[in-house]
Amino acid sequence: IHPTAARNDTPIVVESEKTVYTDEYITSTYDYHTQTVINDNGVFKVTPKVQTYQFRTQRKVPRMGLMMVGLGGNNGTTLTATILANKHNIHWHTKEGLQTPNYIGSILRASTLRLGVDPSTGSDVHVPLSSVLPTVHPNDLVIGGWDISSLPLDQAMQRAQVLQYDLQRQIAPLMASIRPLPSIYYPDFIAANQEERADNLIPGKDKQAHLEQIRKDIREFKQSNSLDSVVVFWTANTERYSEILPGVNDTAANLLKAIEQSHEEVSPSTLFAVASILEGAPFINGAPQNTFVPGCIQLAEEHQSFIGGDDLKSGQTKVKSVLAEFLVNAGIKPLSIASYNHLGNNDGRNLSAEAQFKSKEISKSSVVDDMVGANHLLYKPKGEGEKKGEHPNHLVVIKYMPAVGDSKRAIDEYYSEICMGGRSVINIFNECEDSLLASPLILDLSILAELLTRISYRCVDANGQGGEFKPLYTVLSLLSYMLKAPLVKPGTDVVNALGRQRNALELFLKACLGLEGQGDLLLETRVW
Ligand code: NAD
Repeated sequence: IHPTAARNDTPIVVESEKTVYTDEYITSTYDYHTQTVINDNGVFKVTPKVQTYQFRTQRKVPRMGLMMVGLGGNNGTTLTATILANKHNIHWHTKEGLQTPNYIGSILRASTLRLGVDPSTGSDVHVPLSSVLPTVHPNDLVIGGWDISSLPLDQAMQRAQVLQYDLQRQIAPLMASIRPLPSIYYPDFIAANQEERADNLIPGKDKQAHLEQIRKDIREFKQSNSLDSVVVFWTANTERYSEILPGVNDTAANLLKAIEQSHEEVSPSTLFAVASILEGAPFINGAPQNTFVPGCIQLAEEHQSFIGGDDLKSGQTKVKSVLAEFLVNAGIKPLSIASYNHLGNNDGRNLSAEAQFKSKEISKSSVVDDMVGANHLLYKPKGEGEKKGEHPNHLVVIKYMPAVGDSKRAIDEYYSEICMGGRSVINIFNECEDSLLASPLILDLSILAELLTRISYRCVDANGQGGEFKPLYTVLSLLSYMLKAPLVKPGTDVVNALGRQRNALELFLKACLGLEGQGDLLLETRVW
């Protein structure tokens, strides 16, 4: 399947009494099987449970806008050019020959899901992930956003040095008309070396006025482009962490008050998140800082608005969330993981400052916690009064090296204990153009977030009776596959393992069609 061909793909119709189609909705009935486990004097007592849910998906795909904060950066310009090149079917010459546009790297547009078996051939049937439920096609997105740098997008794309010259040449006239809206700049939150590009600012220091301007920008963008929905995406510089201060950002009411009082600990990214929440626009944080302070999550809950984050899981961390899962699930014990990077783009320049590096270090470091925590045979669990159980040593280094530009180098060493005191070392060297990995993730996150706003659910009893349909929970943890440090419902466990994250998403999309997910059991191949 060509990644861009999904728009014309064979439609899926589920023929089952559990799946009902109307012009407006697909409504599925789904039995959710779980187990509770109680340790009863040294015996695990397991009780299977079944809860029946109904999921209702609005079928009409909206006219959708994507507003990026950091539109003029490497990710912002690369994604915009990718969409325009696909939309206008622009081909360009490279030394290897003629290149056609595509969405490789997007799980929605370039990966498939196993739908079932064709009885006539006995073979598996796969469909693009994007066609399981009605999703917005990336070519149809209306792009806009903000940047503290005023460069129009043709020049910003040139500055980014990511795309091939022949593509830049052809696409420049389409990019030139896109100019980032002025943004909020609080110098304390990003590296001092960014100051020279900050020439496109909403004036003044009044944070309440800034909030209102951003809200107005979202409304006007929606109105002037006749959009049904807008997703706001932070792909601006990594900020330092905000301090969590009682009375300032610990509750929704305090956060709103802190904005009114222009408190210094309210970051630009939190202001954008609050503006989006108040406008009912899903907000996704593609960078590592703690934009979602407790008050911000509470505000989103109160407004039943959707949020997702944090930090794009593009290269090195994606591999880590596969490799650590593989090792620990293979019964092999990683003793240390050493990760080193160098990169030469503006992101790397910003991360060369200590406070911004710290945000990235935290985000990159938590990625093996769930896998390690799940195996008490290899790692000693947390004891009384201890903050953490046994854990591999984990080191993260990032260095700025201008010469390599956007082409990031990452070296990882996995040093593990194997049978009978043996040792194993796996080294990975990974080189990749960062923004070309990140751009498809921004698409997946935004398009899936929009889809999840169109899905509502209710619990039903044995007679098929239930209450009103409700939206999903505020924090969209189903987006975790694309995120380095997934934000989840407070009080629930984070899943970092890539396989489990992908599985969750597939199972959920299938459940919305009333389909069970036990695809890998393949009983028909195991029995006579
Ligand atoms: P970039 O530096 O090229 O782009 C960031 C843009 O944000 C710049 O144009 C800058 O002027 C703008 N900006 C800074 N503060 C702003 C504000 N307050 N309002 C509006 N605009 C502002 O960086 P990039 O390579 O595009 O990466 C963007 C973000 O994504 C970074 O935080 C990075 O850490 C994160 N990220 C990137 C990847 C990847 O693979 N590229 C992976 C994970 C996370």
